Amino acid sequence: MSRISFLNGYFINHDQAMIHIEDRGMQFADGIYEVILFHNNRLIDNQWHLERLFRSLNEISIQLPYSHEQITTACLDLFKQNILVNGSVYLQITRGNATRNQLIPKGITPTVIMTVSSVKHFTENELDAGISAITMEDIRWQRCDIKSIGLLASSLCKQKAADLGYAEAIFVRKDKITECTFSNLFIVDSIDNLITKPLDNFILSGITRRRVIELAKQLNIKIIEEEIDTTQLLAAKEVFSTSTTLLIRPITSVNGQLIGNGKCGKITWQLIHAYQNFLNILED
Ligand code: PMP
Repeated sequence: MSRISFLNGYFINHDQAMIHIEDRGMQFADGIYEVILFHNNRLIDNQWHLERLFRSLNEISIQLPYSHEQITTACLDLFKQNILVNGSVYLQITRGNATRNQLIPKGITPTVIMTVSSVKHFTENELDAGISAITMEDIRWQRCDIKSIGLLASSLCKQKAADLGYAEAIFVRKDKITECTFSNLFIVDSIDNLITKPLDNFILSGITRRRVIELAKQLNIKIIEEEIDTTQLLAAKEVFSTSTTLLIRPITSVNGQLIGNGKCGKITWQLIHAYQNFLNILED
């Protein structure tokens, strides 16, 4: 079966889905994106994703000629056409194509693409082992709250971490932790408080972050949104990252130093199980 993707209202063979060479997404990274998890035929936290999508569009003044419902229907159709019951959908909207000009053209039609993929599931052993991370200067721009397709800084840093033998990079701006290259960051301190950076323009308002905060509240875990510095990070009992496709990912060493006993911690496990439970109760 061939892979089907969505391009500007049409479902077409993935290999034939082409965009114009003067698409502003390609020439200026003038666009935004979203990634939504699809679990047992359902889009998880779809409403939150759509709200963030429209906020990102609004921040860069792109008017999308689709409603929430039309996007949702297109995503669901795309999974159906690809015969997938689990996976993720990548949605990208650029301003569209226009003769190259630094000034933003008016009245052009946005380019809308959607592709679906399967997601990786981690075994209990993989989760328990966690991943290694290295702290790195946050060299991104100052509007990380916009889910921009301009991902070169994140990609370069993730590659730099990989070249140095680490699975992830944790960004630091003026000695404060912001987030990871493609995920948000949480720590658990010595008295079991769950801490994450408050939302501002230096991080993306992660949907998984938001869901994890809800789950923590239900579990009576004390959640604090405040700045975290490098010393607190290295002294943490537990560290984990959150994102739509990798969900809750334990980080068990930072800069070569073990976090806790170097295994996924108790609170992190509680949240992983609560998240799995949350996905399962959504089933019919
Ligand atoms: N921060 C950044 C920089 C990201 O790229 C992502 C994932 N795209 C996240 C956080 C996590 O967001 P979400 O939980 O909505 O996937």
